[in-house]
Amino acid sequence: MRKFVQIIMVLLVMMPPTGGWLAQTTSAMPTAVAASLVPDHDSGPTLTPEELLEYKPNEIGVVPVFMYHNIAEDPPDLTQENEHLYRTADELYADLQWLYDRNFYLIGMEDFVNGTIDIPAGKHPAILTFDDSSSMHLSFQVDDNGVPLKDENGEYMPTPDCAVGIIEAFAKDHPDFGKTAHFAVIPLFKFSWPEYAQDDLIGAKLQWLLDHGYEIGNHTSDHADLAEATVDDFARSIAEPVIWAATMVDPNSDGFAMNILTLPFGAYPEGGWDDEKLDYLKNGYTWEGTEIKIDAALLVCCGASPSRWNGEWAPLWIPRIRGDDPDIASFGDYIDNGWITLYTSDGDPDTIAIPWPLPSEQVGEVDFDGIKEAGLKIVRYDPDSGRIYPPREKHRLRGYTTK
Ligand SMILES: [Zn+2]
Repeated sequence: MRKFVQIIMVLLVMMPPTGGWLAQTTSAMPTAVAASLVPDHDSGPTLTPEELLEYKPNEIGVVPVFMYHNIAEDPPDLTQENEHLYRTADELYADLQWLYDRNFYLIGMEDFVNGTIDIPAGKHPAILTFDDSSSMHLSFQVDDNGVPLKDENGEYMPTPDCAVGIIEAFAKDHPDFGKTAHFAVIPLFKFSWPEYAQDDLIGAKLQWLLDHGYEIGNHTSDHADLAEATVDDFARSIAEPVIWAATMVDPNSDGFAMNILTLPFGAYPEGGWDDEKLDYLKNGYTWEGTEIKIDAALLVCCGASPSRWNGEWAPLWIPRIRGDDPDIASFGDYIDNGWITLYTSDGDPDTIAIPWPLPSEQVGEVDFDGIKEAGLKIVRYDPDSGRIYPPREKHRLRGYTTK
C-alpha cells in the first residue's frame, strides 16, 4: 500500500484533489462455434514471436479510468472552480477521438476488476466513468408532448447530445473502438437530474444501458461523504442502491456492476478506512436481508490505474483521470515521455503477456500469484527478438534479464 501511495504522489500532477459533487463488452463469444475451432489457450502463447514484436503486449501496464460529470453547452453556473466538471458534447466526442487515435479500446469496469479484459492484440484498454446519473448522461428522445419516442425495433432512443448518444454515435463511426461506459448511479437522481423530467423512465433507462453493453455502478443513495458517515449510514448508503437497482433490472445481467462503488467526493478517511468500514468493504455484509459485496472503489484523482496483475493493484483505491483538457493532456505527456507504461493487450484473455526484462518501473511488480490463482498463463517474451521464454519457477522470476 505504501508504494501505491507513492505512485499516487508522483501522479498527483494529473490533478489536485477535487470536491466534485456533482459495460460492458463482455466478450461476445459466439457460442455456436464448433469446439474444434476454439483455440486451445493452454497449448501455448497465442501470439507468434513476429506478432509479439509487432504488438508489444504488456499486461501489467497502467489503464486510464476517465471520470466525467456533466455534459452541457454553456452551463449558467460555470465557474473556474467547477469547470472541470463540465464537458461539451463536442469535447466528449473529441476525447473519444483522442483515445481512438492513440490505439485505446473501451472496456467496462467489471472486466477490469475481474481481470477479464478481452480486446484485440496491440490495443490499450481505457474506461469511461460518468458520475451522478444525470439527464446529461442518458436522456430519451421525446415528442412535442413529452412522450418518449421509440425506434423501429421498439426501443427508446438516447438524445444525440447526452453521453450515451455521443458514445453511440462515435461507435457507429468507429466499430473497432469498443462501446461501453460505467455509470455511477445515485438513485435520487434517476438519470433525470437536474430537470427531473424523466423520473418515470429510470427503470427503462437502467434496462436500456444493460441491453446495450453499458454498466450501472454504485454511487451511494444520496452522495453522502462516506468518510464522515456513521458506520450504519455507511452501510445503508452503499446497500440501498444495490437493492433499489435489483427491483428494476436483473442483478445477474452483464453490466449490473453495483458491486463497484464510486466514492462520493472520492472521500475516504485520512489514513484509510477504519476497521469496521474496511471490514464491510473487504468482506461484505448483510443489509435488510441482502448480501452486499463491494469488489472495487473508485477515487476522484490520481492518474492512471495499475493493472489488475500489477503488484500495485489495490481494488478499493482505483485512481481516475479527470475528463478535462489539462488532465487528458497531462496523461498524454506521461505516455509520450515514457513515464508510464500502458497496458497493451496480447488479444488473449487467458494469457498475461509481459516483456522480459520488464521496463524498469515494472521490475518486481508482476503479481505472479494472482495470475496463477486466476488460472491464467503468463507469457514472457524478449521485446527485442520476440523470443518466448519457457515457463520458469517463481523464485527465478526477478524481473531482470534471463537471457
Ligand atoms: Zn458524484
